[in-house]
Amino acid sequence: MAEIIDVATNIANVTAEIAAAARAAGRDPSEVALLAVSKTMPSERIEPALVAGQRAFGENRVQEAEEKWPPLRERYPDIDLHLIGPLQTNKAKKAVALFDMIETVDRPRLAHALAREMEAAGRRVACLIEVNTGAEPQKAGILPEEADAFIRECVDDLALPVRGLMCIPPAGEEPSPHFALLRQIARRNELPCLSMGMSADYPIAIALGATEVRVGTGVFGRRG
Ligand SMILES: *Cc1c(COP(=O)(O)O)cnc(C)c1O
Repeated sequence: MAEIIDVATNIANVTAEIAAAARAAGRDPSEVALLAVSKTMPSERIEPALVAGQRAFGENRVQEAEEKWPPLRERYPDIDLHLIGPLQTNKAKKAVALFDMIETVDRPRLAHALAREMEAAGRRVACLIEVNTGAEPQKAGILPEEADAFIRECVDDLALPVRGLMCIPPAGEEPSPHFALLRQIARRNELPCLSMGMSADYPIAIALGATEVRVGTGVFGRRG
């Protein structure tokens, strides 16, 4: 049976759940933004989200974003596009031109490349530092014990506009300790933004301080 996806209804439901989770945690719902993760979704599926008023979207590949978003931006100039996938240093220039936030700054070489390209383009793109909270060998992100020094390098030496932190907890593990660790690192470095929580666990992330939740499946349905 074909899955019938009503993106506008999904967004309304997720937005209501975000608000409920925020209130349950004694927080103002306006403190938590929904990033609609549109990776692999065609423009026809994204369009209803735009019509419903959604403006913040997440993509994980530079090339895919480059193909999909410039035409959509012509009609919706206030789109807020975030990169949430790994970034190769040789694509830093394109990423700076294309995205409004880069959530996956995770190593010194990339941080240097981004600082250089922002300087060259005269465009400052907000950044999040990705932390590999589970210290998984195959996963991107700075290790928790290296995070403070890396944040200082990005902020003090490179003057990158670092707004906060992002993490993807290990699959199949209880995510709470990872969200709590991310919040702790953000607090001691005085960073306001916490991008954490996906379709399966965003209410927990909100209870632990998320300021942005990245929801793909919950908004657009399952990816092909
Ligand atoms: C795909 C992806 C998401 C969204 O995942 P869902 O489970 O579909 O909500 C969130 N964050 C990152 C980094 C992703 O790659």
